[in-house]
Amino acid sequence: MTSVQPHASTTSVPPHQSPLLQVKGLTKQFPVHRPFEQLLGPRQYVHAVTDVSFELKEGETYGLVGESGSGKSTTGRTLLGLTPATSGEVWYEGKDITKLSNRELRWLRKQMQLVFQDPFSSLNPRKRIGSILEEPLLIHGVANHSKRQELAFAILEAVGLQPEHYFRYPHEFSGGQRQRLGLARTLILDPKLLVLDEPVSALDVSIQSQILNMLKQLQQERKLTMLFITHDISVVRYISDRIGIMYLGRIVEEASTDELFQHQRHPYTRALFSAVPDAAHSGRRDRIVLRGEVPSPVSPPSGCAFHTRCPLATERCKQEVPVLREIASGHKAACLLI
Ligand code: SF4
Repeated sequence: MTSVQPHASTTSVPPHQSPLLQVKGLTKQFPVHRPFEQLLGPRQYVHAVTDVSFELKEGETYGLVGESGSGKSTTGRTLLGLTPATSGEVWYEGKDITKLSNRELRWLRKQMQLVFQDPFSSLNPRKRIGSILEEPLLIHGVANHSKRQELAFAILEAVGLQPEHYFRYPHEFSGGQRQRLGLARTLILDPKLLVLDEPVSALDVSIQSQILNMLKQLQQERKLTMLFITHDISVVRYISDRIGIMYLGRIVEEASTDELFQHQRHPYTRALFSAVPDAAHSGRRDRIVLRGEVPSPVSPPSGCAFHTRCPLATERCKQEVPVLREIASGHKAACLLI
Protein backbone atom coordinates (compact mmCIF):
# COMPACT_ATOMS: atom_id res chain seq x y z
CA MET A 1 0.00 0.00 0.00
CA THR A 2 1.34 3.40 -0.86
CA SER A 3 0.95 6.58 1.11
CA VAL A 4 -0.06 8.98 -1.63
CA GLN A 5 -2.07 11.57 0.24
CA PRO A 6 -5.50 12.70 -0.88
CA HIS A 7 -5.49 15.96 -2.77
CA ALA A 8 -7.44 18.87 -1.32
CA SER A 9 -9.78 18.58 -4.28
CA THR A 10 -10.16 15.18 -5.87
CA THR A 11 -12.76 16.53 -8.29
CA SER A 12 -10.61 18.63 -10.58
CA VAL A 13 -12.90 18.21 -13.55
CA PRO A 14 -15.57 20.78 -14.37
CA PRO A 15 -19.18 19.81 -13.72
CA HIS A 16 -20.02 17.54 -16.60
CA GLN A 17 -20.87 16.44 -19.21
CA SER A 18 -22.06 13.91 -21.64
CA PRO A 19 -20.69 10.36 -21.59
CA LEU A 20 -17.78 9.75 -23.94
CA LEU A 21 -18.01 6.00 -23.43
CA GLN A 22 -20.85 3.77 -22.24
CA VAL A 23 -20.27 0.17 -21.22
CA LYS A 24 -23.46 -1.91 -21.10
CA GLY A 25 -23.60 -5.44 -19.72
CA LEU A 26 -20.03 -6.24 -20.77
CA THR A 27 -19.17 -9.90 -20.27
CA LYS A 28 -15.93 -11.69 -21.04
CA GLN A 29 -15.32 -15.41 -20.61
CA PHE A 30 -12.14 -17.25 -21.51
CA PRO A 31 -12.24 -20.99 -22.28
CA VAL A 32 -10.13 -23.04 -19.86
CA HIS A 33 -7.35 -24.99 -21.55
CA ARG A 34 -8.11 -28.72 -21.32
CA PRO A 35 -5.63 -31.58 -21.42
CA PHE A 36 -6.22 -34.11 -24.21
CA GLU A 37 -7.86 -36.74 -21.96
CA GLN A 38 -10.57 -34.25 -20.90
CA LEU A 39 -11.50 -33.09 -24.40
CA LEU A 40 -14.82 -34.93 -24.32
CA GLY A 41 -15.94 -33.39 -21.02
CA PRO A 42 -17.94 -30.16 -20.67
CA ARG A 43 -16.07 -27.00 -21.63
CA GLN A 44 -15.20 -24.75 -18.68
CA TYR A 45 -14.83 -20.98 -18.77
CA VAL A 46 -13.08 -18.34 -16.69
CA HIS A 47 -15.80 -15.79 -15.89
CA ALA A 48 -13.44 -12.81 -16.01
CA VAL A 49 -16.03 -10.03 -16.44
CA THR A 50 -19.78 -10.42 -15.89
CA ASP A 51 -22.48 -7.93 -16.81
CA VAL A 52 -20.38 -4.81 -16.18
CA SER A 53 -22.01 -1.44 -16.92
CA PHE A 54 -20.65 2.06 -16.35
CA GLU A 55 -19.97 5.22 -18.26
CA LEU A 56 -17.08 7.61 -18.64
CA LYS A 57 -18.05 11.24 -18.82
CA GLU A 58 -15.95 13.50 -20.98
CA GLY A 59 -12.95 14.85 -19.06
CA GLU A 60 -13.38 12.72 -15.94
CA THR A 61 -11.24 10.05 -14.34
CA TYR A 62 -13.06 6.86 -13.40
CA GLY A 63 -11.12 4.63 -11.04
CA LEU A 64 -11.70 0.90 -11.37
CA VAL A 65 -10.59 -0.79 -8.16
CA GLY A 66 -10.30 -4.41 -7.12
CA GLU A 67 -7.97 -7.12 -5.97
CA SER A 68 -5.85 -9.11 -8.36
CA GLY A 69 -8.15 -11.33 -10.48
CA SER A 70 -11.23 -9.12 -10.02
CA GLY A 71 -11.51 -8.55 -13.77
CA LYS A 72 -10.55 -4.88 -13.90
CA SER A 73 -7.70 -5.28 -16.43
CA THR A 74 -9.84 -7.55 -18.64
CA THR A 75 -12.58 -4.90 -18.52
CA GLY A 76 -10.09 -2.29 -19.75
CA ARG A 77 -8.71 -4.45 -22.55
CA THR A 78 -12.16 -5.61 -23.67
CA LEU A 79 -13.65 -2.14 -23.87
CA LEU A 80 -10.70 -1.07 -26.01
CA GLY A 81 -11.42 -3.95 -28.38
CA LEU A 82 -8.03 -5.56 -27.67
CA THR A 83 -9.84 -8.76 -26.75
CA PRO A 84 -13.33 -9.48 -28.13
CA ALA A 85 -16.28 -9.28 -25.71
CA THR A 86 -18.34 -12.41 -25.11
CA SER A 87 -21.44 -10.21 -24.90
CA GLY A 88 -22.45 -6.67 -24.07
CA GLU A 89 -21.98 -3.31 -25.72
CA VAL A 90 -19.38 -0.52 -25.62
CA TRP A 91 -20.68 2.73 -27.09
CA TYR A 92 -18.16 5.37 -28.15
CA GLU A 93 -19.25 8.46 -30.06
CA GLY A 94 -22.51 6.89 -31.22
CA LYS A 95 -21.06 3.51 -32.27
CA ASP A 96 -21.13 0.12 -30.53
CA ILE A 97 -17.46 -0.70 -30.99
CA THR A 98 -17.91 -4.38 -30.06
CA LYS A 99 -19.64 -4.75 -33.43
CA LEU A 100 -16.87 -3.13 -35.47
CA SER A 101 -14.46 -5.11 -37.62
CA ASN A 102 -10.71 -4.83 -37.00
CA ARG A 103 -10.47 -2.52 -39.98
CA GLU A 104 -13.20 -0.26 -38.60
CA LEU A 105 -11.56 -0.32 -35.17
CA ARG A 106 -8.37 1.11 -36.65
CA TRP A 107 -9.66 4.68 -36.62
CA LEU A 108 -10.45 4.23 -32.95
CA ARG A 109 -6.97 3.10 -31.95
CA LYS A 110 -5.75 6.66 -32.25
CA GLN A 111 -8.42 7.97 -29.93
CA MET A 112 -8.36 5.23 -27.29
CA GLN A 113 -5.00 4.25 -25.88
CA LEU A 114 -3.77 1.78 -23.25
CA VAL A 115 -0.98 2.68 -20.79
CA PHE A 116 0.74 -0.33 -19.20
CA GLN A 117 2.17 -0.83 -15.72
CA ASP A 118 5.54 -1.72 -17.24
CA PRO A 119 6.19 0.60 -20.18
CA PHE A 120 9.68 -0.88 -20.65
CA SER A 121 8.19 -3.99 -22.25
CA SER A 122 6.58 -1.80 -24.93
CA LEU A 123 9.78 0.17 -25.66
CA ASN A 124 12.02 -1.54 -28.20
CA PRO A 125 15.47 -1.67 -26.50
CA ARG A 126 17.29 -1.44 -29.85
CA LYS A 127 15.61 1.76 -30.96
CA ARG A 128 16.29 5.33 -29.93
CA ILE A 129 13.48 7.19 -28.16
CA GLY A 130 12.87 9.44 -31.14
CA SER A 131 12.10 6.52 -33.40
CA ILE A 132 9.99 4.81 -30.68
CA LEU A 133 7.87 7.95 -30.29
CA GLU A 134 7.47 8.47 -34.02
CA GLU A 135 6.46 4.87 -34.74
CA PRO A 136 2.74 5.28 -33.83
CA LEU A 137 2.59 8.35 -36.07
CA LEU A 138 4.08 6.34 -38.92
CA ILE A 139 1.61 3.49 -38.37
CA HIS A 140 -1.30 5.91 -38.54
CA GLY A 141 0.20 7.76 -41.52
CA VAL A 142 0.01 10.98 -39.58
CA ALA A 143 2.76 13.19 -40.90
CA ASN A 144 5.99 13.64 -42.81
CA HIS A 145 9.39 13.14 -41.14
CA SER A 146 10.00 16.70 -39.98
CA LYS A 147 6.43 16.93 -38.62
CA ARG A 148 6.86 13.64 -36.76
CA GLN A 149 10.13 14.90 -35.27
CA GLU A 150 8.48 18.13 -34.22
CA LEU A 151 5.66 16.24 -32.51
CA ALA A 152 8.14 13.92 -30.77
CA PHE A 153 10.11 16.84 -29.28
CA ALA A 154 6.87 18.52 -28.21
CA ILE A 155 5.56 15.41 -26.45
CA LEU A 156 8.88 14.86 -24.65
CA GLU A 157 8.55 18.36 -23.21
CA ALA A 158 4.87 17.77 -22.32
CA VAL A 159 5.78 14.76 -20.15
CA GLY A 160 8.67 16.55 -18.43
CA LEU A 161 11.59 15.05 -20.40
CA GLN A 162 14.42 16.84 -22.21
CA PRO A 163 15.07 17.28 -25.95
CA GLU A 164 18.33 15.29 -25.68
CA HIS A 165 16.30 12.24 -24.54
CA TYR A 166 15.14 11.95 -28.16
CA PHE A 167 18.55 10.44 -29.05
CA ARG A 168 18.85 7.98 -26.13
CA TYR A 169 17.91 4.31 -25.67
CA PRO A 170 15.25 2.96 -23.22
CA HIS A 171 17.81 1.35 -20.87
CA GLU A 172 19.25 4.80 -20.11
CA PHE A 173 16.06 5.84 -18.28
CA SER A 174 14.86 5.35 -14.69
CA GLY A 175 11.49 3.70 -13.86
CA GLY A 176 9.69 7.05 -13.53
CA GLN A 177 11.19 8.33 -16.79
CA ARG A 178 10.14 5.14 -18.57
CA GLN A 179 6.57 5.67 -17.44
CA ARG A 180 6.79 9.22 -18.81
CA LEU A 181 8.03 7.72 -22.10
CA GLY A 182 5.17 5.22 -22.11
CA LEU A 183 2.74 8.10 -21.69
CA ALA A 184 4.50 10.14 -24.36
CA ARG A 185 4.15 7.25 -26.80
CA THR A 186 0.41 7.07 -26.26
CA LEU A 187 -0.19 10.82 -26.06
CA ILE A 188 1.66 11.58 -29.29
CA LEU A 189 -1.45 10.37 -31.17
CA ASP A 190 -3.52 12.94 -29.29
CA PRO A 191 -6.06 10.42 -27.89
CA LYS A 192 -9.32 11.34 -26.17
CA LEU A 193 -9.47 8.33 -23.87
CA LEU A 194 -6.70 6.69 -21.86
CA VAL A 195 -7.04 3.33 -20.13
CA LEU A 196 -4.26 3.23 -17.55
CA ASP A 197 -3.63 -0.24 -16.11
CA GLU A 198 -1.77 0.05 -12.77
CA PRO A 199 0.44 2.78 -14.29
CA VAL A 200 2.24 3.70 -11.05
CA SER A 201 2.16 0.42 -9.11
CA ALA A 202 5.79 -0.44 -9.83
CA LEU A 203 7.11 3.01 -8.83
CA ASP A 204 8.38 4.49 -5.55
CA VAL A 205 5.85 6.62 -3.68
CA SER A 206 7.62 9.91 -4.46
CA ILE A 207 7.78 9.06 -8.17
CA GLN A 208 4.14 7.95 -8.06
CA SER A 209 3.13 11.43 -6.88
CA GLN A 210 5.09 13.07 -9.71
CA ILE A 211 3.47 10.86 -12.35
CA LEU A 212 -0.03 11.33 -10.89
CA ASN A 213 0.40 15.11 -10.77
CA MET A 214 1.63 15.09 -14.35
CA LEU A 215 -1.37 13.01 -15.40
CA LYS A 216 -3.75 15.50 -13.81
CA GLN A 217 -2.04 18.37 -15.58
CA LEU A 218 -2.03 16.58 -18.94
CA GLN A 219 -5.68 15.70 -18.47
CA GLN A 220 -6.63 19.35 -18.08
CA GLU A 221 -4.40 20.54 -20.92
CA ARG A 222 -5.55 17.85 -23.36
CA LYS A 223 -9.12 17.30 -22.11
CA LEU A 224 -8.41 13.62 -21.55
CA THR A 225 -10.93 11.12 -20.23
CA MET A 226 -9.27 8.41 -18.15
CA LEU A 227 -10.12 4.93 -16.91
CA PHE A 228 -7.62 4.37 -14.10
CA ILE A 229 -7.24 0.72 -13.10
CA THR A 230 -5.60 -0.01 -9.76
CA HIS A 231 -5.66 -2.10 -6.60
CA ASP A 232 -4.38 0.88 -4.59
CA ILE A 233 -7.05 2.78 -2.63
CA SER A 234 -4.78 5.75 -1.83
CA VAL A 235 -3.82 6.23 -5.46
CA VAL A 236 -7.40 5.98 -6.72
CA ARG A 237 -8.55 8.52 -4.16
CA TYR A 238 -5.97 10.99 -5.36
CA ILE A 239 -6.64 10.68 -9.09
CA SER A 240 -10.32 9.76 -9.55
CA ASP A 241 -13.57 11.70 -9.82
CA ARG A 242 -15.69 8.56 -9.56
CA ILE A 243 -14.85 5.01 -8.49
CA GLY A 244 -16.20 1.56 -9.34
CA ILE A 245 -15.36 -1.36 -7.02
CA MET A 246 -15.00 -4.77 -8.66
CA TYR A 247 -15.30 -8.18 -7.05
CA LEU A 248 -15.01 -11.42 -9.01
CA GLY A 249 -15.80 -9.83 -12.37
CA ARG A 250 -18.67 -7.57 -11.31
CA ILE A 251 -18.96 -3.95 -10.19
CA VAL A 252 -20.42 -4.10 -6.68
CA GLU A 253 -20.39 -0.39 -5.80
CA GLU A 254 -19.97 2.91 -7.65
CA ALA A 255 -19.99 6.52 -6.43
CA SER A 256 -18.11 9.79 -6.61
CA THR A 257 -14.76 9.66 -4.84
CA ASP A 258 -15.82 11.96 -2.01
CA GLU A 259 -19.08 10.08 -1.46
CA LEU A 260 -17.42 6.66 -1.49
CA PHE A 261 -14.76 7.65 1.01
CA GLN A 262 -17.44 8.99 3.35
CA HIS A 263 -20.07 6.28 2.88
CA GLN A 264 -19.05 2.80 1.83
CA ARG A 265 -22.26 0.78 1.62
CA HIS A 266 -21.29 -2.59 0.17
CA PRO A 267 -19.77 -5.04 2.69
CA TYR A 268 -16.86 -5.76 0.30
CA THR A 269 -16.05 -2.07 -0.15
CA ARG A 270 -16.13 -1.62 3.63
CA ALA A 271 -13.65 -4.45 4.10
CA LEU A 272 -11.39 -3.14 1.33
CA PHE A 273 -11.36 0.41 2.71
CA SER A 274 -10.91 -0.73 6.31
CA ALA A 275 -7.30 -1.62 5.47
CA VAL A 276 -6.54 2.00 4.51
CA PRO A 277 -5.40 4.41 7.28
CA ASP A 278 -7.99 7.15 7.83
CA ALA A 279 -6.52 10.63 8.42
CA ALA A 280 -9.82 11.80 9.95
CA HIS A 281 -9.51 9.23 12.77
CA SER A 282 -5.80 9.53 13.63
CA GLY A 283 -5.00 6.97 10.97
CA ARG A 284 -7.09 4.21 12.63
CA ARG A 285 -10.03 2.27 11.24
CA ASP A 286 -11.63 -0.90 12.53
CA ARG A 287 -10.09 -3.46 10.21
CA ILE A 288 -12.56 -5.92 8.69
CA VAL A 289 -10.80 -9.17 7.89
CA LEU A 290 -12.62 -11.26 5.31
CA ARG A 291 -12.73 -15.01 5.79
CA GLY A 292 -11.43 -17.35 3.11
CA GLU A 293 -9.95 -16.69 -0.29
CA VAL A 294 -11.38 -15.09 -3.41
CA PRO A 295 -13.29 -17.97 -5.12
CA SER A 296 -12.17 -19.28 -8.50
CA PRO A 297 -13.63 -17.36 -11.45
CA VAL A 298 -14.02 -20.73 -13.19
CA SER A 299 -16.83 -21.67 -10.82
CA PRO A 300 -18.00 -18.47 -9.09
CA PRO A 301 -20.45 -18.89 -6.17
CA SER A 302 -24.19 -18.89 -6.86
CA GLY A 303 -26.31 -15.86 -5.99
CA CYS A 304 -24.17 -13.00 -4.71
CA ALA A 305 -20.60 -13.94 -5.63
CA PHE A 306 -19.42 -12.39 -2.36
CA HIS A 307 -21.62 -14.57 -0.12
CA THR A 308 -18.86 -17.05 0.72
CA ARG A 309 -16.88 -14.26 2.44
CA CYS A 310 -19.52 -11.71 3.42
CA PRO A 311 -20.01 -11.22 7.19
CA LEU A 312 -23.67 -10.30 6.56
CA ALA A 313 -24.61 -13.13 4.18
CA THR A 314 -28.01 -14.82 4.54
CA GLU A 315 -29.58 -17.85 2.84
CA ARG A 316 -31.15 -15.51 0.29
CA CYS A 317 -27.68 -14.30 -0.76
CA LYS A 318 -26.86 -17.83 -1.97
CA GLN A 319 -29.83 -17.81 -4.35
CA GLU A 320 -30.27 -14.29 -5.72
CA VAL A 321 -27.85 -12.24 -7.79
CA PRO A 322 -27.99 -8.65 -6.47
CA VAL A 323 -28.44 -6.00 -9.13
CA LEU A 324 -26.27 -2.86 -9.16
CA ARG A 325 -28.86 -0.17 -8.44
CA GLU A 326 -28.96 3.44 -7.32
CA ILE A 327 -29.24 3.70 -3.52
CA ALA A 328 -28.62 7.46 -3.30
CA SER A 329 -28.03 10.16 -5.89
CA GLY A 330 -25.06 9.00 -7.99
CA HIS A 331 -24.33 6.13 -5.60
CA LYS A 332 -24.94 2.52 -6.70
CA ALA A 333 -24.47 -0.77 -4.88
CA ALA A 334 -25.22 -4.43 -5.55
CA CYS A 335 -26.33 -5.93 -2.24
CA LEU A 336 -29.64 -7.54 -1.25
CA LEU A 337 -29.53 -5.99 2.22
CA ILE A 338 -29.18 -2.35 1.15
FE1 SF4 B 1 -23.29 -9.80 1.53
FE2 SF4 B 1 -25.65 -10.76 0.79
FE3 SF4 B 1 -25.06 -8.22 0.33
FE4 SF4 B 1 -23.88 -10.14 -1.04
S1 SF4 B 1 -26.04 -9.65 -1.09
S2 SF4 B 1 -22.91 -8.38 -0.17
S3 SF4 B 1 -23.67 -11.73 0.50
S4 SF4 B 1 -25.28 -9.21 2.31
